[in-house]
Amino acid sequence: MVTGAPATMLDRREELTPMLAQYVDVARQYDDAIVLFRVGDFYKAFCEAAEEVARVCELTRIEREDSTGTYTACGIPVDNAPKYLKRLLDAEYRVAVADQVEDPEAASGLVDRAVTQVLTPGTVVEEELLAAGSNTYVACVASDAGGTEASTRTGSGATREDDTDPTYGVAHVDVSTGECAVTAGDPAAVDEELSRIGPAELLCGPGVDRAVVAGADCMVTERDADEFAPEAARAVLDRYGDSERFDAAERVAAGALLSYAEYTQGDDGPLAYVRRVRRYDPRRSLRLDATALRGLELFENHVGSGRTLFDTIDETRSALGRRRLRAWLRRPLVDADAIRARHDAVAAFAERTLVREDVREALSAAYDLERLAGRIARGRANARDLRSLHDTLVAVPEIREAISGVGALAGVRGELDALDDLRGLIDDAVVEEPPQEITEGGVIRAGYDDELDEIRTTAREGREWIADLQASERERTDIDTLEVGYTQVHGYYIEVTNGQLEKVPDDYTRRQTLKNSERFYTPELKRREDEILGAEERADALEYELFCDLRDRVADESDRIGALADALARVDALAALATVAVDRDYVRPELVDDAETTEGDAGAGDRVGDEVGLGLKRSRHPVVEETANEFVPNDAAFPRGTVALITGPNMSGKSTYMRQVALAVVLAQAGSFVPAESARIPVVDRVFTRVGASDDIAGGESTFMREMRELTDVLHDATGDSLVLLDEVGRGTSTTDGRAIARAAVEFLHDETGATTLFATHYHELTDLASECERVVNRHFAATERDGEVTFLHRIREGAASSSYGVEVAELAGVPESVVARAHGLVAADRDGAGESPPTPAGDDAQRTLDEVATNGRDPDGEGDAELPGVRGDAVADLLAALRDLQLAETTPLEALNHLHDLQRRAEDAADAGERP
Ligand code: ADP
Ligand code: MG
Repeated sequence: MVTGAPATMLDRREELTPMLAQYVDVARQYDDAIVLFRVGDFYKAFCEAAEEVARVCELTRIEREDSTGTYTACGIPVDNAPKYLKRLLDAEYRVAVADQVEDPEAASGLVDRAVTQVLTPGTVVEEELLAAGSNTYVACVASDAGGTEASTRTGSGATREDDTDPTYGVAHVDVSTGECAVTAGDPAAVDEELSRIGPAELLCGPGVDRAVVAGADCMVTERDADEFAPEAARAVLDRYGDSERFDAAERVAAGALLSYAEYTQGDDGPLAYVRRVRRYDPRRSLRLDATALRGLELFENHVGSGRTLFDTIDETRSALGRRRLRAWLRRPLVDADAIRARHDAVAAFAERTLVREDVREALSAAYDLERLAGRIARGRANARDLRSLHDTLVAVPEIREAISGVGALAGVRGELDALDDLRGLIDDAVVEEPPQEITEGGVIRAGYDDELDEIRTTAREGREWIADLQASERERTDIDTLEVGYTQVHGYYIEVTNGQLEKVPDDYTRRQTLKNSERFYTPELKRREDEILGAEERADALEYELFCDLRDRVADESDRIGALADALARVDALAALATVAVDRDYVRPELVDDAETTEGDAGAGDRVGDEVGLGLKRSRHPVVEETANEFVPNDAAFPRGTVALITGPNMSGKSTYMRQVALAVVLAQAGSFVPAESARIPVVDRVFTRVGASDDIAGGESTFMREMRELTDVLHDATGDSLVLLDEVGRGTSTTDGRAIARAAVEFLHDETGATTLFATHYHELTDLASECERVVNRHFAATERDGEVTFLHRIREGAASSSYGVEVAELAGVPESVVARAHGLVAADRDGAGESPPTPAGDDAQRTLDEVATNGRDPDGEGDAELPGVRGDAVADLLAALRDLQLAETTPLEALNHLHDLQRRAEDAADAGERP
C-alpha cells in the first residue's frame, strides 16, 4: 500500500517545484493516507501515489515534465470525486484531501493548501459514500492497561477461563449519525461484540493481542500509543459527558475512538452530534456470536440463495427504520416485558391495515434525520437539507394522527414530537426549492429579514429601471434597434448597430466594439449597475450569514431531533414487522419467560405438546419458504432441556428445520411474529450454532479444528436457557473419533448443561441414547421411493431414521443404475457384516419408505457368510472399509460417482483375482 509522501519525491524534495514540494510536505504529515491535492478542477496525486490512485480508480496516468524531470500524476475530477473516493475507501485506503485554504486570486505565488478532511472506511460521513439502510461503524478495542505491559499476553477464545484474562473495552461510533456506545469484556466477548458491530474499521490499542481481534474482517488502523493513555482518553471523553461513568477499559476505548473521530472530521472540538456515549451490557440481549450470525444467515448469505433473514423481513420505509430493524435483529431482547411490549405494538399495527398503510406512506417521506442532524451539527448541511428536515417534520403529525387512540402505540406516539417551532422557523426562512449552493443567494425567503428585504428592493428597483431603459432610450435617441443587455464580463450595455451610430447621444461612452455594432454605457447606467451588483453581493453574503445562523439554531436542537429520529425509527420497524406478519401469515408468539410458568391460558388450545418449553405448530423457515416451490411446515415441541437427535437422508431438510426453530426464537425475541400457526417461545439467553462447517472451506484453520473450537464454546458457555444447534458435529475426523466426540457432547449437554439442543447427525448409533438419557428424543426426516425414485417429504417424524440413504441420494444425482444397485448391495453387506451381492431393490409400484427399501436390500441368508462369490474375505473387508470411510456429506454427486466407479472396479479386480488360482 502506498501512503504518505512518495519515496521518489521525498528523496529529492529540494529539487521539486514549489507545488510538488508542498505536496511532499503535506503528504509527510499524513503518512498513513493517500494525499489528494486540489489543483484546479482535480484532486491530484503524484508519483507512486498517482500510480496507486490510477490503478484503484481506473483512471489514466499522465506523465508530466517540468524543470525537475518527469513524474506521474493522476487526477480525480472534483465534480465526480465521490465515486472515486469510494473506490479508494473500498480498497481500504485512508484518503487525506488537501484543499486550497486561501483564495487563489488573493494569493501571491503558491496557494496555501491544507488537509481539510481525512476519509477512512469507518468514518466517512458523505452521503454518497454511505449505505443508506445500514450503519457504518468504526470500532476500538483497548485494554484497561492502556499502556504496553499487556502486550505479551496470549489471549484468545480458548483461554477465556484463565483468571488473568485482561478486560477489554470495545467502543463503536457511527460518525455520520453520532451513535456511540461502549462495553467491556473478556476476549470472547470482544470477538462476539465485533462480529455484531461489524465495523468498517478498527482501532486496536497497544495492549491488545491481535488474536483477540482476529475475527474482525475490516481495516485495522494504527494510532499512536499516546491516544490510549488513560489520562488522554479521559480528557477526550470528558468532552462528551462524565468520564467517571465508565470502567477503565471502556474509558480508554471510547476516548481513543472519539479522539480519532474528531481527527478525521478535521474538527478541533468535540463532535456536537455525538450526544451521548451509551454504556451497554451485551448480556442484556440475546447473545449471538459470530458463528451463530453466520450459521443463521441473519445478515449474510453464504450459500447461494442470496437472501438473508434481514432481507426477508425488511419492510421498512425509511433509512432510519431500516437501521433500527437491523439493530433489533442483531440484538434481540431477553427481557420478557420488553419483548411483549414490541409484540403488542406489532399486533396493534397488524390488526389495523389502514393505520399501518397511512403510517408507512407518511414514513416514505421521511429523510434520514440522524444523518441530517449530523450534517447540520457539523455545519455541512445546505438549504436543501433543512428543507428535508422540514418535510420530514411535516409527516410527523400525520403519523401521530394515524396512531392516535391505539393503546399499544401510545408510548411511541408521545415521543413523536413534531418540533413545530423548528418546522415553522425553517419554513419561514428557507424557500421551498433552494439551490444546492448556500453562498450564491436564492435561499432565504422574502419577509424573513428586513435588511435583506431592503437590499433586495434596491436591487429589484435597479433592475426594473434597466428593464425600462431600452424603451426609454429608443424613444430618446430614435434608434429603433437599440438594445440593452448584460454580460458577465462587461456588465450592462446599450448596443447600437453600425448603421445607426450617428444617432448616438453625447452622454454615451463606448464600452466595447463588435463586428456589426458598438456597445455603450451612460453614467446613470453605470451608477445603477454598481448599485445592483453591490446589492446582490451584499444580499448573497447576508443570506449566507442568515442561513448559517439558522443552521446553528437548528443544531442547538440536536437532542430533540435525535429523540424524534429514534421514535420514527421505532415506528417504522414496528410497522415493517406488522407488514411481514400480515403478508406472510406469521403468528404472535406466546412468550414463556420462566421454565415453570406459561403465560395465561389464552393460547393453550394451540399448544403443541403439553410440557412447557419451545412449541411451534406448522412452523416454516422464513427465508426458504420464500423460494421453495412448496414449503412443508413442521411442528417442534421441545420441553426445556430436550436433546433432539435428528436423523434422515441428506437433503431431507434437517438443517432447514433446525434453523427455522432457531430463527423463530430470534424473530420472537427481536419483537417479530414468527412463521408458524402457533408458537410458544421460551426466552432464550443465547443461541449457539455449529451449522454446516463442511460447506465452509474459507478460513485458514482446518475445518475440524474450527468445528471443535466452536463445540468448545458451546460446551463452555451454554446454559439451561440456551438453544443449541449442532449440525453434523464430528464430521471432520475419522468415523470412530467423530462418533465418540458427538456422543460425549450430547451426554454433556444433557447431563451438565441442560440446554435445549437440536442435533442433526449422521451417526445413527447415537440414536440409542434416547433409551439411556431421559430428555434425549429421536426425530427423523423420511423420504419415499416410488418407481425407484426417491422423494423427500421434508416432514419430521418421531423416532430415528435407520439409514443415511447416501446411495439413494447418489441415485437421485443420476449415478448409473448398475452402480447404484451394486452400492445397495455393498451397503447391505456392510450392515450385516457379510452378505451376498443383493438384487436391485425391486421397483414395484408400491410407495415404500426408504427404511423398507434398505431392509429389502438385505440378503436374508447372508448371515455369517463373509465372502462375495469368488472374492476373498480380506478383499471384501477392504472394500467395506473403503465404503464406510466415504464422507458422504462432503461428497459431490460427481465425486460420489467416481467413488462408486472406483469401488466397482476394485470389486471386479478382486473377483478376477479370486477366480485365478
Ligand atoms: P439436510 O440438512 O437434511 O441435508 P437441508 O435442510 O439442507 O437438508 O434441505 C435440503 C433442501 O431441501 C433445502 O435446500 C430446501 O430447499 C429443501 N427443504 C428443506 N426443508 C424443506 C421443507 N420443509 N419444505 C420444502 N423444502 C424443504
Ligand atoms: Mg444439513
